Amino acid sequence: MKYICADCGQEHEDWPALVFKAPDTYLGLTEEEREHADLTSEVCSIDKDGETLWYLRGVLTQYVYDACQYLDYGVWVSLSQESMKDYYEHYEDKEYKTTYFGWLVTNLPNYPPNTSFALPTNVEVDNSKGIPTILPHQKGDSIFIKEFYEGISTEEALRRIAALINP
Ligand SMILES: [Zn+2]
Repeated sequence: MKYICADCGQEHEDWPALVFKAPDTYLGLTEEEREHADLTSEVCSIDKDGETLWYLRGVLTQYVYDACQYLDYGVWVSLSQESMKDYYEHYEDKEYKTTYFGWLVTNLPNYPPNTSFALPTNVEVDNSKGIPTILPHQKGDSIFIKEFYEGISTEEALRRIAALINP
């Protein structure tokens, strides 16, 4: 989709969101283990050792420093049972806003293994807007955190889109 940018007045083309279909923890399960798991486009649960692990999909927006656009990732975070209960209780409430703590459980393919995995995040819920926003905590020396806060180039953003569309 092409559109005229409100910031610079030039024509831009929408970038696709890079969406991961399931948490890495789910992708790593065997067929048999998946019988004890549930996956939708938004929520995932895994029953393991008498416990239920909960995951939610959110949008992580990568700042691109030399463009008027951002690169959106659809990533997964793990949440506490308490947070999930709260999320479900307010699911129909379009005014509801809150923040949960979550661990990122998506390895982004552009980074060395485990660079983006298991990082602490804020999961910002605003039901008037749609699925939650994932905001990694600004700490540690991970290259992923550095790029998230300092931005990546347009060239790098386009490389990531191309890699996910034509792997
Ligand atoms: Zn622009």
